[in-house]
Amino acid sequence: MPELPEVETIRRILESKIIGKQVEGVELYLRKALRNAFPEELSGGLRGAVFTGVKRRGKFLILELGDARLIFHLRMTGQLLVVKSGTPLPKHLSLRLLLSGDEELWLVDQRKFATIDWLPRGGQLPRGLGVEPLAAEFTGQRLGDICQGRRCAIKALLLNQQHIAGLGNIYADESLFRAGIRPDRRADSLTAAEIRRLHRAIRAVLRESLTAGGTSVRNYLNAEGKQGAFQNELRVYGRKGEPCVRCGTPLERIKIGGRSSCFCPRCQS
Ligand SMILES: [Zn+2]
Repeated sequence: MPELPEVETIRRILESKIIGKQVEGVELYLRKALRNAFPEELSGGLRGAVFTGVKRRGKFLILELGDARLIFHLRMTGQLLVVKSGTPLPKHLSLRLLLSGDEELWLVDQRKFATIDWLPRGGQLPRGLGVEPLAAEFTGQRLGDICQGRRCAIKALLLNQQHIAGLGNIYADESLFRAGIRPDRRADSLTAAEIRRLHRAIRAVLRESLTAGGTSVRNYLNAEGKQGAFQNELRVYGRKGEPCVRCGTPLERIKIGGRSSCFCPRCQS
C-alpha cells in the first residue's frame, strides 16, 4: 500500500534518526518475513553494525550498514517505526532492533506481507526495477518509449514496477485523472500530447504528496508514527459514486488487472 511518497517520507525520517546508531539487539518475531537468510545470520550480522545510510528504490527501503544491506518492502500494511526504548510492544510486531541511544526500530505489520532481505555483502537487490518517476531520466520521451507498442491498459503499465518504480493504485489513478486519460486506454493509443500531460501529472502528484507527507489510507504512518495529509487532496482514488471535483459527474470504478480503478467518465477519455 505505501507508494513512492510514503516510502520516501519514511526514508527521510529514518535517515535523520538512525544513521550513526549501532544495532545492539535483534528480535525477529515473524520468521517468514525474512526471505533470503536464516534468523541467526540476520542477528549475527546486524549485532554491532552501525547504520551508515538509508536509500529508496521504488517502494523498497534500503538500510545500509557499511557494505551490508537490510531491505524492507512494506507491502499492504507494514510500518517502520523509530521509538524510544521502553515503549510498550505493539501487536503484530515482526522485527525489533534495539539501537544505541535508547531507541528501537520496529517493523509492525498487521497483514504480515511485508518482507525483509538481508544482504551481508551488499549486492544488487532489488532487481529489475524501472525508472524512478521523480528522477531526471524520467522524461516525457521516456514515458513515450515505455508506452510504445504496448497494448495493455495504461493503468496496468503505470503499476508495473519493471517500467516505472514506485507508483501504485493511488498515484496511478490520480495521475490519470489529472491528465484526462481513462485508465483502460491502451497504452500505445496515447497521443504525444497525452503522454506529455501524463508525465507532468505523475511528477506533480508525487511531489505534492511528498510535500504533504504522503497519503494515510488504511494504516499508513510515517516512521515517527504520524499520518500524512494527502488523503485530503485525492480527487478520484477511493471515491466511486462521488461527484467529480471538476464536472460533478459521479465517478465510476472498473477493474484493471485485478485492481480497482476510479475515474471520471466525462473528464477522462
Ligand atoms: Zn469530471
